[in-house]
Amino acid sequence: MPWFRRAKKGIKGSGSHKKGVPEGVWIKCDECSEILYRPEMDRAGWTCQKCGYHFRIGSRKYLDLLLDEGSFVEQDADLTAADPLKFRDSKRYPERLAAAKEKTGLSDAIVAGRGTVKGTPVSIAALDFGFMGGSMGSVVGERVARVTERALDARRALVTLSSSGGARMQEGILSLMQMAKTSALLAQLADEGLPHVSILTDPTTGGVTASFAMLGDIILAEPKALIGFAGPRVIKETIQQELPEGFQRAEFLLEHGFVDRVVHRKEMRDELAQVLAFFGDAPMVPPAPRRRRDD
Ligand SMILES: [Zn+2]
Repeated sequence: MPWFRRAKKGIKGSGSHKKGVPEGVWIKCDECSEILYRPEMDRAGWTCQKCGYHFRIGSRKYLDLLLDEGSFVEQDADLTAADPLKFRDSKRYPERLAAAKEKTGLSDAIVAGRGTVKGTPVSIAALDFGFMGGSMGSVVGERVARVTERALDARRALVTLSSSGGARMQEGILSLMQMAKTSALLAQLADEGLPHVSILTDPTTGGVTASFAMLGDIILAEPKALIGFAGPRVIKETIQQELPEGFQRAEFLLEHGFVDRVVHRKEMRDELAQVLAFFGDAPMVPPAPRRRRDD
C-alpha cells in the first residue's frame, strides 16, 4: 500500500476528507493524484500546481487571499441562529449548529465585514462550505443584508464570495425568505449605482444561486466550479434527457452568458482589484437619504 493511502494521522490520503483542505504535510490531488507539498499549496492558494484543481478552502483563508493583509474587520459576528421551528431530523438543529461551530470555529456559514483590496475599501461576505454545507439560514441572510446596508451607507463596493449547497432546510420558510431579503437590498445597491462583484466557487447551488450569488454586476467564477440551482441528476430525471458535457460547470456558464469570467484562484485578487478600479470611486447616481447602520 502506498504510504499516502495509510489512514495514520498526519499522512492521510484523499479518501480521508470531503474535497476540503486535508491534513498532513503531503497532500494528494483529488483530480490528478499528484502528491503536493503543503507549504507550496498554501502559496498557490490551495490549487494543484500540476492540473490546476481548486481545493475547497474556508472563508477566512479566502478572505486572506483577497484582502490586504490586516485590513479585514469582521462585523455582525454576534448574530446567532435561533430554532423557531424546533426542527429535528436525525439530530436536533441546535446540535447540528453546535457541531458545525466546533468543527469550523465559525459562528455560522458566512463571515462578513469590511476590508481593502489593493487599497480600495469594500464590504465583503464569504460563505463557508465547511459549516453545514454553506447553507443560507437567517444568520447568513441577515449578514448579507447588513453587509449590503453597510456598503450603501459607506458608499463602498460589495464583494460576495459563494460556496453553498443552498437554503438551510432546518429553518424552513425562514431560510427561503433570505433570498428575497438579500435580493431586495442588492436592488437598493444597484439603485445607488454601487457595484456588487460576486465570486462563485465550487459549489454554488440552490437558494444562494437563486438570490445574491447571481445578482453580481460582475460575476467571476473559479475554474470547473459547479454552479446551478437544482443538481444535474434532478434535472436529468425531470426532463428525461442527457445533459451536455460540462453542464453546470463554470466554463459552461461562461459560454452561455451567466458568468463574466473564469478566473484561477491565484489571479482572483488581481482580477478583483482590476474590476473595482474599473468601477472607480464615483457613484453613478447621487445618494438618496436613508437610515444609516453604524460602521
Ligand atoms: Zn492535480
